[in-house]
Amino acid sequence: MSCPSFRGRPPLSYEGQMRRIFLLVFIIALSGCSALRSAKLFAPTWFGFVQIADGVYVDDAMHASQQEELLKTIAVAKGRVSDFFGHLEGDPTIFACSTEACFAASGGFTAKGTAYGSSRVLLSPRGLGLVTISHELTHVELYSRVGDFRAWHAIPPWFDEGLAVLVSQDPDYTIDTWLRATDNGRGAPALKLLGNAVPWAEGQLSYGTARHVVGEWYSRVGSEGFFRLLRGIKAGRDFDFLFGRTPFIPGLADPLPHAGGPPGAS
Ligand SMILES: [Zn+2]
Repeated sequence: MSCPSFRGRPPLSYEGQMRRIFLLVFIIALSGCSALRSAKLFAPTWFGFVQIADGVYVDDAMHASQQEELLKTIAVAKGRVSDFFGHLEGDPTIFACSTEACFAASGGFTAKGTAYGSSRVLLSPRGLGLVTISHELTHVELYSRVGDFRAWHAIPPWFDEGLAVLVSQDPDYTIDTWLRATDNGRGAPALKLLGNAVPWAEGQLSYGTARHVVGEWYSRVGSEGFFRLLRGIKAGRDFDFLFGRTPFIPGLADPLPHAGGPPGAS
């Protein structure tokens, strides 16, 4: 469903503003619109979230022992992402749900978790483990490094997701499982199809292919090439040019078909 717009109206009196705030809260509480549901995260304590640490909120149904485990897992996940990036510049607010009802009411869908740019992460009860939290924090860190606008505008989703799968060390996406799923790479989809004709729910074909391409690229360019890419994006340069500037070396280590152009073409 479409979301109501609040733009383009004349300034309101104080009473008018208060009425609008109450109306907004009322609409958010009742609406089926995901964008409005996720807007609850701007006022989390109004909607059943409690703060358990600096930048960490959980639904009030989460058991104390699960809260404790969550904080430990977040610390380890931050370490994992920091190891890859050198240090963390992102400082998101994390919202963790212990129930599917909390997740859906806060704007979540079927994913284990969702990152909203560099500012917020929403975790489902299926996404409270190390891999999912590391995955979402990788999105956050990438966006933090280049800026939300640049990231949204310039970074293709396959790179964003492939990097997150790589950095989170997701055990579901190994080279062996990907080779089996793609007939040794011959059946791998084009990168531009990922998230579109090949939905992310396809798993090995989508996340697996993205992870393989980003991993193969990173194995060639290393952290130096990775940070060069980030600097280039931040400076407004073209992603495909930056990603494809290192000559592609075909071979068994990278069984993806590249007949259509450089791996970054999307
Ligand atoms: Zn992701």
